[in-house]
Amino acid sequence: MLAYTYLGPGKFALLDKPRPTLLHPRDAIVRVTLGSICTSDLHIKHGSVPRAVPGITVGHEMVGVVEETGAGVTAVRSGDRVAVNVETFCGDCFFCRNGWVNNCTDPDGGWALGCRIDGGQAEFVRVPYADQGLTKIPDSVSDLQALLVGDVLATGYWAADIAEIHPEDTVLIIGAGPTGVCTLQCVRLKNPRQIIVCDADPSRLDFVRRHCPEVIPAAPGQVLDTVRSHSAHGGADAVLEVAGTPDTFRMAWMCARPNAVVTVVALYDGPQVLPLPEMYGKNLTFKTGGVDGCKCGEILSLIAAGQLDTTPLITHTFPLRDIEAAYDLFEHRRDGVMKVAIKP
Ligand SMILES: [Zn+2]
Ligand SMILES: [Zn+2]
Repeated sequence: MLAYTYLGPGKFALLDKPRPTLLHPRDAIVRVTLGSICTSDLHIKHGSVPRAVPGITVGHEMVGVVEETGAGVTAVRSGDRVAVNVETFCGDCFFCRNGWVNNCTDPDGGWALGCRIDGGQAEFVRVPYADQGLTKIPDSVSDLQALLVGDVLATGYWAADIAEIHPEDTVLIIGAGPTGVCTLQCVRLKNPRQIIVCDADPSRLDFVRRHCPEVIPAAPGQVLDTVRSHSAHGGADAVLEVAGTPDTFRMAWMCARPNAVVTVVALYDGPQVLPLPEMYGKNLTFKTGGVDGCKCGEILSLIAAGQLDTTPLITHTFPLRDIEAAYDLFEHRRDGVMKVAIKP
């Protein structure tokens, strides 16, 4: 089968590999029907994910059909359409039992698919702990509608959940890329009084304007003024930092009102400065990133009910054999690309 493979820093290649087989009774084999490319894949490509194993098939965003299940799998069976979770988790350890599945203590726990074990930019993928890692897609939900459920939409859903948003709040979301827009959709479900979205890229702010006209878009240079003029208490009641650029961590706490919750979803390339003397008396609460992606069933129900729709984010589709071109487009952000669907 065709499998897009990490050869070493800077090098991916589409190789012909054997089809995966069951290695454990809790495994399932999934025939991938649609996949996507994530910024994390680019981080692997450029060697900034040290734990990525050369030789693995990349890709951790996909939907498909269950081909085969191990004897210990009970939640899904052959023929089921499923969303695949980016995270592998056992469901039994201390962290899993508390819902902190990102910190599962299993050796394969956390982000393993497409990083430490073979992923889904391929025709087939082996999913460990299939009862946890696969969620049945309702009949009324298409593959395209479900494509982002296991990774970026799970991240947005988790972030909106922990951000402590109330109906009277002004919420600032920093970043209007795919994860920022997913976060925005999930924050809207909390019905805050006002949402402001900041991004440096005017085309991404345009995307927000087109799809969420009630949201106030703000460029980085105006965001502090915009937040202050739309807040009753001198700053945002909740801030979600989804951008991860050199300036956005500072922007996040600067725009927060005293006693706000600042949820840091972003993954930074380097350390950030926490200037405690400057923020003394602001009494902020910071929550830091690493999605606990165990609510895929809830998310799929909200999609089925028409409350979440990430299909506008999927701006391009490529066949798997042209995945190089898809990466090139996605990496260089050409042609207004947000997310790319890959069809095996
Ligand atoms: Zn990802
Ligand atoms: Zn666990």
